[in-house]
Amino acid sequence: MILLATYHEITENDSRYVYSISTSRFVEHTQVLAHLSVTTGSTALSFDDGHISNYELALPILETHNCRAIHFLSASWIGRRDNFMDWNQVRELHKAGHEMQSHSWSHPFLTECKDEDLELELTRSKEVIEDRLGVEVTAISMPGGRWDRRVVRACAMAGYQRIYLSDPFFRPRIVDNVEILGRLMVSRSMSAHALHRWVSGNNRQFGIEWMRRRSKDLARNVLGNSMYHLLWRTLGGAERSLQGRG
Ligand SMILES: [Zn+2]
Repeated sequence: MILLATYHEITENDSRYVYSISTSRFVEHTQVLAHLSVTTGSTALSFDDGHISNYELALPILETHNCRAIHFLSASWIGRRDNFMDWNQVRELHKAGHEMQSHSWSHPFLTECKDEDLELELTRSKEVIEDRLGVEVTAISMPGGRWDRRVVRACAMAGYQRIYLSDPFFRPRIVDNVEILGRLMVSRSMSAHALHRWVSGNNRQFGIEWMRRRSKDLARNVLGNSMYHLLWRTLGGAERSLQGRG
């Protein structure tokens, strides 16, 4: 199992949003990740949320490079929210060999859900994706990367076998029979060269990312969740989602 590089939105031009990747950069990244997929035999790439650009812009690039991804869908957004895929598009991705998994029903921080809401977020997304596509949904990525022991237990109860986080430094482990894995969230500033250093385990890049990550964690601990996200939204230029991304 290798570290999944995770994308959100692909844009034709550069964007101010921190997790938007331009198509030209995405082409370079895909070359790196397609090569990695071939050499390791594992999927190297994933998308969170189900943005329309995953179908309109990313799919043709992935096809060109014979590269497949895991798509984690916020199921209630599919066909119901502007700029997100509809079920026909999701079905086409699936037919093209891409894997479809869950990113909860409506994308709250799962750690902040009451027990009954948590159960609904986990089971409804799983059931709807399974019904629509005729596949088994066994994995989920955590909205905003937030998780704790209670969330893991609820995922196990709902029938998930793998949980994906937004932390590239997380050491894989099994809790309640669920495999928990880290991922690398790819930001717009990451060059293909840096991505390559990352996936090939270069220590220097590891050090830089570790510093960045730990300073974010420190800021979040000091400021608290809501203040941190308000600040992040203001500084990051993202116009959407106090719920964070991941
Ligand atoms: Zn997300």
